[in-house]
Amino acid sequence: MTKAERIAEKLHRGLLPEDGELRYLICEMTGSEAEIIRKLAREAADSVFGNKVYIRGLIEFTNFCRNDCFYCGIRRSQDIARYRLTDDDILGCCETGYGLGFRTFVLQGGEDPYFTDSRLVHTVSAIREKFPDCAITLSVGERSRESYKALKDAGADRFLLRHETADPCHYGKLHPGEMSFENRMNCLAELKALGYQAGCGFMVGSPHQTTGNLIDDLKFIWKFRPAMVGIGPFIPAKGTPFEHEAKGSAELTLRLLSIIRLMRPDLLLPATTALGTAASDGRARGILAGANVIMPNLSPESARKKYNLYDNKLNTGCEAAENLAELKASMAEIGFEIVTDRGDAPEYIDRV
Ligand code: SAH
Repeated sequence: MTKAERIAEKLHRGLLPEDGELRYLICEMTGSEAEIIRKLAREAADSVFGNKVYIRGLIEFTNFCRNDCFYCGIRRSQDIARYRLTDDDILGCCETGYGLGFRTFVLQGGEDPYFTDSRLVHTVSAIREKFPDCAITLSVGERSRESYKALKDAGADRFLLRHETADPCHYGKLHPGEMSFENRMNCLAELKALGYQAGCGFMVGSPHQTTGNLIDDLKFIWKFRPAMVGIGPFIPAKGTPFEHEAKGSAELTLRLLSIIRLMRPDLLLPATTALGTAASDGRARGILAGANVIMPNLSPESARKKYNLYDNKLNTGCEAAENLAELKASMAEIGFEIVTDRGDAPEYIDRV
């Protein structure tokens, strides 16, 4: 047994490896060990999900944002065309998506003050009423506990809020001083306490990130026990303070996907758009590394062009049935099947 396999064995037994062991998996193991780890991660995913890949319809409903995160292409200081979708637009996206087989809708946006609790509750209620058999996921940033509760009561099931980094010092290098690491972490705790299927995550290769930071991110995931984890390479965005920083590595992202999968065989783990943007076969390789979710874009063409979190963002619209057929074919090619269940996190299934 190789050293990497011994560490994988620990993860398999639900134990948290030592920092040095996590470091070994992240950046020290040989290429052949990495391939063993990838296979073990895929086997772990297979043991829970088989060859199923869940799809989520992503609706980017606003690019207005009150925050100024240094990495983000829609931060408030960016001089870009802004838009927000109306409830009718959003319901229209859901309807198209429903027809294509989507049973989860993910509403993602900047932190847009226009979407007060009452407005966003209204939007969520309208989707809940029209699509009672679908899961609703929100990815709308930091809000109050009352707001999260009202949205949950209105019918939201899941919430994605990447922690971005588990190290407060690194957090301070990615965000202006007005944003707080503690608040983000508190939001995640609240979301979980309210019964959301909560997702965290981080960018791989974000500026100033060290291997120590990645170890801390893995340890945070182990402790927090999220239902989902979203990770993708950092990709510079024009006009941001990080415009000239180096892009994150797709290879390292794939390796981290495998480590996270070994840590949590039951996790919902997307092969993200950023991974698909950083490498042309990124999403397929993500699935082969242990991911089990893909989030095609259901936003209208005009919105998609303006929701540029980073440069050259992959634009695989699925509003056209042909594109979904293409995705199905590309998954079938590597032995996977796109399914249309809601795809809840296994430990939440009896509760929904
Ligand atoms: N406002 C919401 C949604 C943010 S966008 C929120 O705060 O949760 C979703 C994710 O995109 C972010 O959490 C971040 O991790 C990622 N992202 C933003 N800019 C990026 C970039 N330049 N490269 C890669 N990922 C980026």
